[in-house]
Amino acid sequence: MDLKQYVTTVENWPKEGISFKDITTIMDNGQAYKYATDQIVTYAKELGAEIIVGPEARGFIIGCPVAYALEIGFAPVRKPGKLPREVVSVDYGLEYGKDTLTMHCDAIKPGQKVMICDDLLATGGTVEATIRLIEQLGGTVVGCAFLIELSELSGREKIGNYPIKALIQY
Ligand code: 5GP
Repeated sequence: MDLKQYVTTVENWPKEGISFKDITTIMDNGQAYKYATDQIVTYAKELGAEIIVGPEARGFIIGCPVAYALEIGFAPVRKPGKLPREVVSVDYGLEYGKDTLTMHCDAIKPGQKVMICDDLLATGGTVEATIRLIEQLGGTVVGCAFLIELSELSGREKIGNYPIKALIQY
């Protein structure tokens, strides 16, 4: 299946000059959503993932069906103030300013093999921060899976040596 045909590009959203990749037109097509999920499930099996981690909010849309299919757990990465128990936090740089991501301290068991899922890899800042959270908790990041990679933003180089799969390239 050519998944790219189900992505909708929205020009100048959320601000002027941004060409936003809208994945809701993959999700609202049952066959396309299942196809994308199945590809990532196969990859997670190859990696031997024992738990899936996804950053809010679109990482949940990609990661949760993968975890369900594999009958493994899913652990959310959230903005500060959203998780009810003790958390670990990392700050990461945005184009202007910084942001923070958090995970529950007991979300990952030491040595557990973790695969990260998100909808899109751009500069790599989000996934790099997510890797730091997982490693603070003693987890082993076995790979990262995305629906879309914006290759000109070089996120792959930022992440370094972790295996990466992206189903659609721009
Ligand atoms: P990065 O941290 O790699 O620069 O940006 C990736 C994060 O921003 C992902 O969590 C993703 O959800 C979001 N993101 C950035 N640009 C887009 C886009 O064009 N489309 C979608 N769907 N998400 C985007």
